Amino acid sequence: MRILVTGGAGFIGSHVADGLVADGHAVAVLDNLSTGFRGNVPQAARFFEGDIRDREFVDGVFAQFRPEAIHHHAAQMDVRKSLDDPVFDAQCNVIGSLHVILSAVKHGARRIIYASTGGAVYGEPETLPVTESHRIHPECAYGISKHTVEHYLALYRMLAGLEFVVLRYPNVYGPRQNPHGEAGVNAIFIGLMLDGKIPTIFGDGEQLRDYVFISDIVAANRLALDKGNGEILNIGSGVGHSVNDIYSALSRIIGFEPPPLRVGARPGEIDRVYLDATRAASVLGWKPTVSFEEGLRRTVQWHLDQRRATA
Ligand code: NAD
Repeated sequence: MRILVTGGAGFIGSHVADGLVADGHAVAVLDNLSTGFRGNVPQAARFFEGDIRDREFVDGVFAQFRPEAIHHHAAQMDVRKSLDDPVFDAQCNVIGSLHVILSAVKHGARRIIYASTGGAVYGEPETLPVTESHRIHPECAYGISKHTVEHYLALYRMLAGLEFVVLRYPNVYGPRQNPHGEAGVNAIFIGLMLDGKIPTIFGDGEQLRDYVFISDIVAANRLALDKGNGEILNIGSGVGHSVNDIYSALSRIIGFEPPPLRVGARPGEIDRVYLDATRAASVLGWKPTVSFEEGLRRTVQWHLDQRRATA
C-alpha cells in the first residue's frame, strides 16, 4: 500500500514509518523538521519537507504520492507552548490537520489513522482507568486542538466516506523521544542521570501517567491500517506510574544514587490519568506487550548507544 506518514521525522512517526517499510509498504514522510530530524526518516521512504499549515504544499504531496492511507502524526505537541501561543497550536494541529483531511478526500485516499491524546482530552478524570466514553474536558489548548480534529474526521467519513481510526495515545516513550514534548519525562531524566546531573521533580512526584513503549504504539498503528472504521480508541496499559516510580526505576537501571531535587508543583498539571484500552483490544486485537521496566531498560540502552556512537 502507498502510505503517507505526516510527522514521520519525529519520535513516534519515524518508528511507525520504519514499521510500515518493514511490512513492505511504499512509504512517504511529510515533515517540516521543526522538532523532527531528517536522519529519523527511513532510507526507503520518500521525504517531502514542508509544513501542514501550507495547504498548497500538502495538496502537492498528495497529488504526487497519491497515498492510500495516512498516519497523521505531524503536530505541535508541547502542552506549555499550546498555552503560551494557542493560535500557533491551532494553526498546526487544527488547520494543518484539516489540510491533510481535505487533500485525503480530494485525492481519494481510503483511510486516516490519527494520533490523538488520551493524556490531554479528558482533563482531570472523574473515573480511572479512563474509558472513551468519559466526558471530554481538556485543560490545555493542545487537548482542544487534538480533539477538534476527531470531529472533522467523523464529518468527512460521513460526507465523503473517508475511513478513520483515532488512536488516543498515553505517554509514549522509547528511543528517539524528544524531551520537550507531551511526555518527555523519561528522556529528560535519562539524559540528566547519564550526565551525572540531578533531575528535578515537581510537586510530590505522585502524579500518575500511563506509559507505553514505542514498539507497542507501532503495533497499534499497523493493526489500525486494516481494522476498525470510525473508531476512537484509547491506547494504554490501564496502569499509572508515578514520577517517583520512574525516578527509582531509572536510578536502579543506570546505577544513579542521589535523590531528586524537589520543587513546588507546576500549576495546571493533571494529577492522574491512565487509560482503559479494552475497546482497542476488541476492535484491533491490541494489547501492550513490553513491561514498563523492560521499556525503560531498552530506552536507557539506546541513549548509551547514541552516546557511544557520537563520542
Ligand atoms: P515529535 O515532536 O517527535 O513529532 C512530531 C513531528 O511533526 C516532528 O517531526 C515535527 O517536525 C513534525 N511537525 C510539527 N509541526 C509540523 C508542521 N506544522 N508541519 C509538518 N510537520 C510538523 O512528537 P511525537 O511524540 O512523535 O508525537 C507524534 C504525534 O503523537 C503528535 O501528533 C502528538 O500530538 C501525538 N501524541 C504523542 C504523545 C507522546 O507521548 N509522545 C502522546 C499523545 C499524542
